[in-house]
Amino acid sequence: MNSRQERRLLLAVGFVILLGLAFLIWSIDAQRASQVPVDVGGKSILVYGASEQQIVAIQSSFTFLQQPVKESVTAIYVLDTSESYRHFGDSGFVGDCHSSGEICIVSHYFDYRIIWHEASHAYTYTLSYAFKKEWLEAAGRIHYGAYAVDAGFPRDGILTSYGSTDWREDVAEWVAEIYSFISHLEYYISHLEHGSFCRGAVFNMIVDMSDPRYHQKLKFLLKWEFISEENYNHIKPLFE
Ligand SMILES: [Zn+2]
Repeated sequence: MNSRQERRLLLAVGFVILLGLAFLIWSIDAQRASQVPVDVGGKSILVYGASEQQIVAIQSSFTFLQQPVKESVTAIYVLDTSESYRHFGDSGFVGDCHSSGEICIVSHYFDYRIIWHEASHAYTYTLSYAFKKEWLEAAGRIHYGAYAVDAGFPRDGILTSYGSTDWREDVAEWVAEIYSFISHLEYYISHLEHGSFCRGAVFNMIVDMSDPRYHQKLKFLLKWEFISEENYNHIKPLFE
């Protein structure tokens, strides 16, 4: 082989290697960006990394949501184990919502309740300061973050231990519990394994029915369009 042939061969080998690399990057990318636009009733959102079963669950969970809440969600990312670790680390979180309306959910813990909870956060991000002010008024004299985990919830108008950590979590837990209750468990994804967060019966566990804060919060969620009049009428008798 002369030096010219040698150069040609090197060029050819280099070209093949480049082509291989390009294909590798393309295929990894195609896998990663398994994004699909999902119609969630009058609105399309981008969903990443979801199985077909999870896409169906996203669609049926959204049928419970009010239009403004639906509108506030821009995308849903279902994270596999390594993605979850990159996103949440050791924090123990199974879902979060960014101010952009993007929701991240750990695939392993995917269920309706997390979608409702995080969608409430997405909508809360779009609301004015008046919302926070009024919620704190409805919540009465309590100190978010000062409760023990086992302080015996529901209590003081707060439904769950997690809801006692922050006013935003209180809002999201309320909305998630309302839809959990309304969906009467049969909508729960019996075919999806990890339903550990599917409660919904929390309203039946309220001990102090005379505490006006439960009704105040329910009324407030109706006023700010988190829930429908029909939802409101379903829950209200539980406090009477
Ligand atoms: Zn939350």
